[in-house]
Amino acid sequence: MTATPATPTTPPSLDPVGGTRVELRGVVKEFPGLRALDGVDLVLDPGELVVLLGPSGCGKTTALRCLAGLEEVTAGSIHIADEDVSGVPTNRRDLGMVFQQYSLFPHLTVMENVEFGLRMRKVPAEDRRRRSQESLDLVGLGEHGKRYAHQLSGGQQQRVALARALVTRPRVLLLDEPLSALDAKVRAGLRDEIRRIQTELGITTLFVTHDQEEALAVADRVAVMNEGRIEQIGTPEELYSTPVSPFVAGFVGLTNRLPGTLSRGMVSVLGATVSVLNHNVPDGEVTAFVRPEDVILGPEGESASVLTSSFLGSLRRTHVQLDLPDHPIVVVQHEVSDVRRPGEKVRLTLRDHAVVVEKR
Ligand code: ADP
Ligand code: MG
Repeated sequence: MTATPATPTTPPSLDPVGGTRVELRGVVKEFPGLRALDGVDLVLDPGELVVLLGPSGCGKTTALRCLAGLEEVTAGSIHIADEDVSGVPTNRRDLGMVFQQYSLFPHLTVMENVEFGLRMRKVPAEDRRRRSQESLDLVGLGEHGKRYAHQLSGGQQQRVALARALVTRPRVLLLDEPLSALDAKVRAGLRDEIRRIQTELGITTLFVTHDQEEALAVADRVAVMNEGRIEQIGTPEELYSTPVSPFVAGFVGLTNRLPGTLSRGMVSVLGATVSVLNHNVPDGEVTAFVRPEDVILGPEGESASVLTSSFLGSLRRTHVQLDLPDHPIVVVQHEVSDVRRPGEKVRLTLRDHAVVVEKR
């Protein structure tokens, strides 16, 4: 095995642990004067990676800690493999956990850190070594067993934390912002590797993050949380193209907020009329949430002027200012071949794609 973690060759694999169904049923968690979880229902299918996505303070960590048994729920229940684990302590729930802050024991070597969970379970030394080595190989650090935490980069420390979490072959893996302390490039690499390992092991995984790009990249399904509730759960594609609310539309992916007029389930924006995804807004003046690729630079529509236009490799992103009161700025994504210059007069309209609206 090479020790180059960024480009793993054919990695060794632990036997697949197989997936376990996990369910949070109506989970409420109250702290003094605060309801952190307000009735969370969430099912993770066996082997599935679900991301809990939401802004800071919305209750992600609390949900994960309830699942782990680190917090007692105020109401509702938690089920692992169809067993209600409400009275089961953390160390009996058969979970692996990785947190944002590096959490290796500084006085133990990498190998000793990984062995720790097996030592607690009184696994014999030889078996312990073999399984820990396998687990380190899995994360691409097979040759780093003798090092100490301070001799590793942040990304390597998180790999060790992952190896340590997986060495006991837990039924469920819990990751709380495991990449947030890393710089962007390391983050993307390790994110893909977590996904590869998770898929290979088939381990049911709850991955918490506030980073929507990370969520879309890694998840089978994403649960978007807002103020202690799950606002929408779906595949990354579903969340992006059919958000159920302004919150989800605004939190997941780039979005324009454009003035429109709502009438009987249809909204008029930039001279086009498209259908509406959420039906809880009264007719009248609204804000419509429109993706940059759903705006068309065309011969028709609302007149506007180009501010800036950037080449982004596979597409071009152009900022355009509408000749409307308030001069709203619209972000448009379009073909690379369609070159636009600052100051150029254009017209904007919408592709026929349903949008979310909010009362203005
Ligand atoms: P997130 O992980 O989404 O950033 P948390 O789950 O950590 O959010 O926190 C949700 C809310 O619960 C926040 O308002 C936070 O201040 C509060 N909270 C979390 N843990 C405790 C605690 N032990 N005691 C009191 N309030 C807490
Ligand atoms: Mg948190």
